[in-house]
Amino acid sequence: MERITAIVLAGGSGKRMKSAVPKQYLTLAGKPVIYYALRAFDESAVTDIVLVAGAGDADYCREEIIRRYGIRKVRAVVEGGKERYDSVYRGLLAAEDADYVLIHDGARPLVTADVIARALAGAREYGACVAGMPVKDTVRLVGEDEFADATPDRRLLRQIQTPQAFCGPLIRDAYAKVLADIEQGRTEGRGITDDAMILEYAAGRRVKVTEGSYRNLKITTPEDLILAEAYLRAAENSD
Ligand code: C5P
Repeated sequence: MERITAIVLAGGSGKRMKSAVPKQYLTLAGKPVIYYALRAFDESAVTDIVLVAGAGDADYCREEIIRRYGIRKVRAVVEGGKERYDSVYRGLLAAEDADYVLIHDGARPLVTADVIARALAGAREYGACVAGMPVKDTVRLVGEDEFADATPDRRLLRQIQTPQAFCGPLIRDAYAKVLADIEQGRTEGRGITDDAMILEYAAGRRVKVTEGSYRNLKITTPEDLILAEAYLRAAENSD
């Protein structure tokens, strides 16, 4: 049987949220933020889920989230590492037989069935894809002095989201290579913020951008919770 594994990341500390509780466990419309992404993957075509919890949080996640809310497809809960890429790698080690891997930020609760389906279709067709959306604002590069420099052509800019979806062997090999290079000082890990960058670095592969959703925001600062709650209520009312 084909295995399609979702790696859901909840191993970060969420410093930009300025909250004592990591953002993935904050309450959103009465339930923990991380519950929503788990439910979306549970109801999707993925065959299993690996949840990457924060250090020391695995039992909490098993009891208070997976068991409590009846998430069925979780086959492993592993604890994350210092950087996002360390956490992903630990998730990949628990998904070593996956034909396709979808990597998702647990801090994006509003991922939908459509976005997941498009990511999986992209992985099948191109081997590697990431969800993204056209940027709405003008984006400027600035100098260290905060004076505006270049203005990239907005038509060519995408804000990158998750899921990021890959053929299993491709992403596992890429991560193994990059982590070995970081360990041996051949490259710096700083600046690696997503999985596409890992694949480009390790395998020189181009990564397709598939359509995400403007609602698929990442809970990062307090106002994101207000917006996410509004989107959830709107979705409930339209059901
Ligand atoms: O910090 P950032 O918002 O980019 O994190 C994106 C996702 O990666 C979040 O869901 C966070 O929990 C996860 N993460 C992780 N391990 C880390 C850092 C971030 O699982 N060390």
